[in-house]
Amino acid sequence: MIEIERFDGEKIKINKDNCFGCELIKNSSVNSGLVYESENFTISQDFELPILGMLIIASKRHVNSFTELTQVERLECMELISKTLKILKENNICQTYSIIQEEKSHFHIWLLPNHSYMLKNFGNPVKNISKIFQDSLKNLKNKETIDKIYDSLNLIKSKFNERI
Ligand SMILES: [Zn+2]
Repeated sequence: MIEIERFDGEKIKINKDNCFGCELIKNSSVNSGLVYESENFTISQDFELPILGMLIIASKRHVNSFTELTQVERLECMELISKTLKILKENNICQTYSIIQEEKSHFHIWLLPNHSYMLKNFGNPVKNISKIFQDSLKNLKNKETIDKIYDSLNLIKSKFNERI
């Protein structure tokens, strides 16, 4: 077992031999940032990073790449990206996003908000992503930010319920 710290400061124990994405899906009760779930995907706050509006769309099946999704899953995934971005923008969580997918682990898509503080302090968010992540862990793990993130998650969850 290893212990990892969730975005809200809570320490969570997970089995280090298993895939982290699969563990989160199996133990959804530890994923306090979950806003939406279908048969094939989950959408939640990034598990570790206290960044407002940083949502992860993850497949429930363990695959590594977009190319390993079925056609039905691919179409659902595109639809979910679009729906999620719409909700985030309409509710003023952030107006512009970078969409990132790495192929090194359990399939997930990062919706990285391009907040004005990021553009001001770090320039291009994709080029400086590790600095943005480090900064959030060092400077944003405070009650004010965490409360704001949970408020946003409740709002996003209610918007998904309205739409589906
Ligand atoms: Zn997995």
